[in-house]
Amino acid sequence: MGPVRVSYVETEHKGGTRFKLYPQLPSLDQQHEPETVWVSSPAGSLMPGPADHRMYVIDPVGKEKAYGYYPGPAGSTFHYRPPWPGTILEMAYPDPDGHFDHLDVDTFQFQQAHAFGSIRFTMDIWERYFERPLEWHFQDYYDQLEILFLRGLDNAFAGFGSIEIGSYTSKKTGDFVEFGLSFDILSHELGHLIIYKEIGLPGTVEVDGEYFGFHESAADMVALISLLHFDSATVGLLENSRGNLYSYNRLNRFGEVSDNYQLRSAANDKTLYDFADGWTYEHNLSQVMTGALFDTWVDIFHENLLDAGLISQSLEDLSDRMEGDPDYEAVIQPLFDEAYAENPGGFADALIASRDYMGFALAAIWERLTIETLDYADVYETFIEVDQDMTRGRYSRIIHTNMRRRGIGIIKAGPRLTPPDEKSHAFSDRTATPMGACDCCRPGLPYSIRRELARNS
Ligand SMILES: [Zn+2]
Repeated sequence: MGPVRVSYVETEHKGGTRFKLYPQLPSLDQQHEPETVWVSSPAGSLMPGPADHRMYVIDPVGKEKAYGYYPGPAGSTFHYRPPWPGTILEMAYPDPDGHFDHLDVDTFQFQQAHAFGSIRFTMDIWERYFERPLEWHFQDYYDQLEILFLRGLDNAFAGFGSIEIGSYTSKKTGDFVEFGLSFDILSHELGHLIIYKEIGLPGTVEVDGEYFGFHESAADMVALISLLHFDSATVGLLENSRGNLYSYNRLNRFGEVSDNYQLRSAANDKTLYDFADGWTYEHNLSQVMTGALFDTWVDIFHENLLDAGLISQSLEDLSDRMEGDPDYEAVIQPLFDEAYAENPGGFADALIASRDYMGFALAAIWERLTIETLDYADVYETFIEVDQDMTRGRYSRIIHTNMRRRGIGIIKAGPRLTPPDEKSHAFSDRTATPMGACDCCRPGLPYSIRRELARNS
């Protein structure tokens, strides 16, 4: 691994609390070491659980079903929701200095700390981008988010007052996957909660079908941008690609360097034209928006490399000219290998700068969107406005190109082809308010299926 000099994690180290998290990137076969990260909670301030004033983790014993709406007596509906009143497994305790990085990775307590650390770390990152504390959409009812385990549930849900964490066994490999150890999934679920609060709940108003694709896409972007706050993820991505993300993206090669779900899902070539006749799963529809945002990010990263003199204009031009050429790899990759070897730290700085541009831009876009009018064209238009405010439109050409290439701003997705069933993700009664105002949100598409979809896309 080359010498990379920058420090990537902006979280305040001084006085924060240490956790060990698995970033999952890059990983194709090997079991990785967890990485130490710092969250903003002052050392010594976290309670056993872990818990703080915004969230707590519990590991229930004997909880048989997920929170949600269930039929009650005489045709009534019962809203099963936090807090869990029963017995729980032993909680994770901090070390004498208040940190949680001392736990044995094979214990339930490590998983509990990992779940808290992943969600807290993601929240710190997005509070920096929003430049203010994030609130819960359920805060009139609960001060704290309940993060709880329901092992065997092939999913993880962001719901009304809770994030519920399952696990699954891969049919192909027989591997048992604990979602509590997946930063990807936990970070994605917090992404859903951010959007519910910032943009609103479906079901309370009439929403465009593209809202559901947008929602999934936003959750994926939250997870992806958060992932690139791990040193090992950033360095791993650069070391594997030597900074040639352009080629990795166009050739959809991320699957070769990482089994990271978010990254595989982001690098796709889906367009709105593919959904002109309609759509079934919002996850598939979401890939259009995620792909457009990801392409934009990659183009801005390359723009940053050019500006810093880390790659030459002639390399950029050659790369453009040779797109689709069978010799592309053979010609372009060695030039990137050479440029990257000259200054890996500079490449890392450029990647971080583009990551932060996307984080600040997305937070600003989400603040401006309103649920009533939200569709992909609205996101595109708002992105252009935000870029105007942030950079005086420096990236507007890149945004226009990547959005229009996907058909965004040109056509709209057709209707939802099947009524939302229990596989639909954002349509889950878990986000409904206790007032019963909305019929949104049923159990999400199981992760084993979502991963399958991502692999086949
Ligand atoms: Zn989701």
